[in-house]
Amino acid sequence: MRFSGFRILKEGLTGNKGWRPHWRDPEPKAEYDIVIIGGGGHGLSTAYYLAKEHGLRNIAVLEKGYIGGGNVGRNTTIVRANYNLPGNSEFYSHSLKLWEGLEQDLNYNVMMSQRGVLNLFHSDGQRDYAARRANSMINQGDDAQLLDREAVRRMVPFLDFDNLRFPVFGGLYHARGGTARHDAVAWGYARGADQRGVDLLQNCEVTGIDVENGRVRGVQTSRGPIRAKKVAMVVAGRSSQVAALAGMRLPIESHILQAFVTEGLKPLIDHVVTFGMGHFYISQSDKGGLVFGGDLDFYASYAARGNLPMAEHVMEAAMTLMPAIGKARVLRSWGGIMDMSPDGSPIIDKTDIEGLYLNCGWCYGGFKAVPGSGHCFAHLIAQDRPHPAATRLRLDRFRTGRGLMDEEGTGAQHNLH
Ligand SMILES: Cc1cc2nc3c(=O)[nH]c(=O)nc-3n(C[C@H](O)[C@H](O)[C@H](O)COP(=O)(O)OP(=O)(O)OC[C@H]3O[C@@H](n4cnc5c(N)ncnc54)[C@H](O)[C@@H]3O)c2cc1C
Repeated sequence: MRFSGFRILKEGLTGNKGWRPHWRDPEPKAEYDIVIIGGGGHGLSTAYYLAKEHGLRNIAVLEKGYIGGGNVGRNTTIVRANYNLPGNSEFYSHSLKLWEGLEQDLNYNVMMSQRGVLNLFHSDGQRDYAARRANSMINQGDDAQLLDREAVRRMVPFLDFDNLRFPVFGGLYHARGGTARHDAVAWGYARGADQRGVDLLQNCEVTGIDVENGRVRGVQTSRGPIRAKKVAMVVAGRSSQVAALAGMRLPIESHILQAFVTEGLKPLIDHVVTFGMGHFYISQSDKGGLVFGGDLDFYASYAARGNLPMAEHVMEAAMTLMPAIGKARVLRSWGGIMDMSPDGSPIIDKTDIEGLYLNCGWCYGGFKAVPGSGHCFAHLIAQDRPHPAATRLRLDRFRTGRGLMDEEGTGAQHNLH
């Protein structure tokens, strides 16, 4: 089933009765060439690119819940390629380029909106860092503009520019950044993978990973055992638990990140805006809600809900930057379980167990990585060598200390990244 303007018109005039489910609901087979654990954005995009770019078809994605129920459907949808350090810089640049052709590639409306990301700075030191980061982005071939205070004021006049503690000095503007509709991204990749023969098995929890003589042989699941030549772990906040099924101990901590949305308002914020003196970021959804978030809840947890002190902390940051927000009513908030790595950067690598692959450590930045991560992980699984855009995303950097990518400069503290 392909989407087209003609099809939408026809269905609209005939009661929308001709649409079919976007993917099949198959029974698990006894054996697959490749089993992907985790039907989030990264697992689905990996399956899609394995089928599309490498011609592999005998693949299953095992999802313990439902497609789109994890972080891929819980995030604040920000997409960008404004990283500073080698490793992250080329990887996120690669991912943004894939985003730019994604709707045509998937024949699916993921509501990609390149509305621009504006990172504010509030001191001379921050301005220097923003200039350095802008130069890295331009060197990487991406776009960056350093804006002075008046240029920022023209874009977002409602901010508190003269706040006594945190006056706005200017901003780093990344015009190709923006937002996309998160669950549509999961649905688009799921549909694309299914069309190419991938089995998407929902309500199928992996409860064991079978390893014999240092080689992976398959998985145990709530729907029975499944043999596999290769197994890929892509379970975001559950990475440590799933890797433990294969006897591995990962350098990952799981923390909660909350997000908030207000009632629908008339158009107010055209861009994504981030506060440089507190962890706070905001954009406006197509329905008019102000979507915003802030820091992690600072304790490790597997509960997909947050606590009230952090909600208060985020509201304080919002009021400091943008006092007008105090008039909007918050409709709802929710939490997701983040896979925090010690340097705040991701891992796409093989493991010491032959045939077992690992993709994790996305912290709270993995939505923008969905196309790039799937593309690079599929390359690694299919060809057993890293994609050029992901050569530095190695697991052993945490053991050897070589090649750490501490983008935030906050040291080896998971909760600070
Ligand atoms: C509030 C919030 C805001 C965020 N904002 C942004 C943002 O603006 N921009 C950005 O780039 N990133 C953002 N992120 C981060 C981003 O959402 C995540 O990094 C990314 O979605 C993680 O990858 P995923 O989509 O594959 O994860 P998920 O969707 O969580 O997928 C993992 C899947 O694995 C499944 N699973 C786990 N254990 C098992 C098992 N044993 N067997 C089978 N399946 C299993 C889970 O059910 C889940 O569906 C945010 C996250 C949150 C929570």
